[in-house]
Amino acid sequence: MPKIPVKVVKWEDIVRMADKLSEKVKVEFVPDVIIAVARGGLVPARLLADSLGVVDVLSLKVEHWVVTASHTPEARIKYPYKVDLSDRKVLIVDDITDTGDSLILTSKYVGENFTPRAMKTATLQHIESSSKFKPDFYAEVVTDWAWFMYPWNYWEDEINLVSKLIVERKTKDLVDLERAFKESYGINPPITLDKIFLEMKRRKILE
Ligand code: AMP
Repeated sequence: MPKIPVKVVKWEDIVRMADKLSEKVKVEFVPDVIIAVARGGLVPARLLADSLGVVDVLSLKVEHWVVTASHTPEARIKYPYKVDLSDRKVLIVDDITDTGDSLILTSKYVGENFTPRAMKTATLQHIESSSKFKPDFYAEVVTDWAWFMYPWNYWEDEINLVSKLIVERKTKDLVDLERAFKESYGINPPITLDKIFLEMKRRKILE
């Protein structure tokens, strides 16, 4: 059993889920504006905008920061702005609901500051067991929690996962780390570890 279950999501999975999501939205809701929750919702929002024929795509950047003396990160809008959408129907799009905090925050923010005529939420995946928020539309429900490595996040996720192993296993040996990666996360790394090492050095997070 991997310590942290990680699943690699391929581009074809994204296209399949975005198609399925768009079919679900189409039968119930006709948005005029799509709001992407950045950064995870950016690619799904753009795909939905294409299949739903929506020209106006906005974005809100949600960041997760750790409150002093608390271990649980809190979500907040990093660059708040206001816009009047009182004659517009809005679809808020993200990649996944895990705690649900990002969509709780974003829908509250949009409701209060953009005051849309109607508002719905959509994600590619919804983790039923952990999320406090259920999106109006989602392509897939996840029953067993896992970390999903989306194709727009391969580098960031893999760097984080490898960094964790370097600390835990006290090694920088590529062969050891490759074995540890499989053992700890249950997958082979989508980007080879030599490339990850080079990038970590470029970013000055590895000597
Ligand atoms: P949430 O906890 O619902 O506020 O999720 C915050 C954001 O973190 C999501 O929009 C994703 O971009 C990312 N995220 C959270 N949990 C996962 C997961 N299990 N797999 C992949 N990305 C995740």
